[in-house]
Amino acid sequence: STRKYPYNTATNFVLSYLARGLYTVGGKMTYQKLNEMVDRFANALYQLGVRKGDRVALMLPNSPHYVIAFFASMRIGAIVVNNNPTYTARELKHQLVDSGSETIVLLNLFYPRLQEIRAETPLKRVIVAHIYDTLGPLSRFLVHAKQSKQPDWVDVSHDSSVYLFQHLLERYGPNPPTVDVQPEDVALFQYTGGTTGLPKAAMLTHRNLVANTVQVASWLTKTDYGAEKMMCAIPFFHVYGMTVAMIYGLYLGGELTIVPNPRELDHVMDVMQRERSTLFPGVPAMYIRIVNHPRINEYDLKSIKACISGSAPLPIEVQEKFGQITGGRLVEGFGMTELSPVSHCNPVFGKRKKGSIGIPLPDVDAKIIDLETGEDIPFGSDKEGELVVKGPMVMKGYWNRPEETEATFTPDGWLRTGDICKVDEEGYFYIVDRKKDMMIASGYKVLPRDVEEVLFTHPKVLEAVVVGIPHPTRGDDTIKAFIVLKPGESATPDEIREFCKQHLAPYKVPREVEFRAELPKTMVGKVLRRVLIEEEKAKLA
Ligand code: ATP
Ligand code: MG
Repeated sequence: STRKYPYNTATNFVLSYLARGLYTVGGKMTYQKLNEMVDRFANALYQLGVRKGDRVALMLPNSPHYVIAFFASMRIGAIVVNNNPTYTARELKHQLVDSGSETIVLLNLFYPRLQEIRAETPLKRVIVAHIYDTLGPLSRFLVHAKQSKQPDWVDVSHDSSVYLFQHLLERYGPNPPTVDVQPEDVALFQYTGGTTGLPKAAMLTHRNLVANTVQVASWLTKTDYGAEKMMCAIPFFHVYGMTVAMIYGLYLGGELTIVPNPRELDHVMDVMQRERSTLFPGVPAMYIRIVNHPRINEYDLKSIKACISGSAPLPIEVQEKFGQITGGRLVEGFGMTELSPVSHCNPVFGKRKKGSIGIPLPDVDAKIIDLETGEDIPFGSDKEGELVVKGPMVMKGYWNRPEETEATFTPDGWLRTGDICKVDEEGYFYIVDRKKDMMIASGYKVLPRDVEEVLFTHPKVLEAVVVGIPHPTRGDDTIKAFIVLKPGESATPDEIREFCKQHLAPYKVPREVEFRAELPKTMVGKVLRRVLIEEEKAKLA
């Protein structure tokens, strides 16, 4: 029966599978097999009672399980809700309740966290994938389980609402019912990054996801169908990895190399070298670590053809070095959850401009509007404005948040990005900063990026972030820089400020400089400015 799964010992469990020759740990899976697995899992979900429009929460690291559960849910018209595996029980509860998820698919290591709050959620069924599952690279988590002294298996025998992932795949045949799913149906609730506040769920439709995949694909026209090897290190549960690594990789008929933990950079680089990866989407934090890797010269990463960097500004220095090391083209793009996510990118095989997010993808309309009047700002003018976009990849709205949805669209239907941009006469866009991050110093508006670009050119600086700390009485912000130095380096705040004075107007020079071993970041490596600001405010209070 489902309850009496042979969980006596992990080794027996793995061996029983290997002996049957079903799949192998760390082996390869064909498209045909994947499709069959998706059908089986879709059937299982349906037989367990999941229906069109129901929400299926996923809390999985990058793994075959993720890919299967994702497409299986969508195949029967259910809505996927992505959850970040690093969420605490409290954050997870918020998302399960907010989305109304009745089903969750998660890794056994996260199960204890779910148990803490399960009774307070609408969950009816729980499907547990296991680090001993023979589907793929989850066994890397064994090490983590040991380190964190977590139980490395879950006893589900006492609870009839808990199912085992691998068991469902065996038990249900690859013949799910046909469900009528239309392009305008919602496919996914994708929570925003939570960089500026509480995450909100963007409702993305099937059309949105397909459109953005095709839009991104049109950008890399010189890829060979079936020949690309996609290094999937950025998380699938984030919209960027989901579209640009997973869906796009599959759309290309390519081979996905799935790595469950992007933070294990040595592992990522080892695998990339071994697999001869050709495409490697990433975030600036990863590229920064790679170009500064102490043993970078020992790696051969020449197979890399193209990398898209998104989600945060890519320092120009890093872009250049990465090109020198790999010979591949690292281009900067722009996206946001609400846009499924990519709207702009520098052409891989065309004119790239440093510091620019490039030009709009095909079928994207984009312009900038005056921050105060909302009037269009013409291309080539030096004025900054808010970037607004239209296109087939723009979300339907935020789930359960009609006011925020309304505030996010202009009256004539453009999505407001909340990002301040410039456009040059050739139509290349430049992100200047986020509206919310703008600082006021000595009465002037200062954008953090202006200062950070200077700091990044300092030879001792590995990472830098600049924030404005509201002064309690002065009525403006104190500009403060937080800096991570390169390994083995030391520096003084004065030395850094002196350097800034040579390159910046006096009011932009950080009043304070603090060195840190690391910076607080979101899962995709975006610096959490609000955390730094809150810490500083707490010190002042
Ligand atoms: P939240 O909306 O919850 O505060 P978030 O905006 O960080 O979080 P995402 O949707 O993941 O969540 O990120 C989109 C944002 O990332 C954009 O609005 C923009 O500010 C930033 N961004 C994306 N690409 C770039 C880029 N190339 N350069 C600078 N910023 C970028
Ligand atoms: Mg946002």
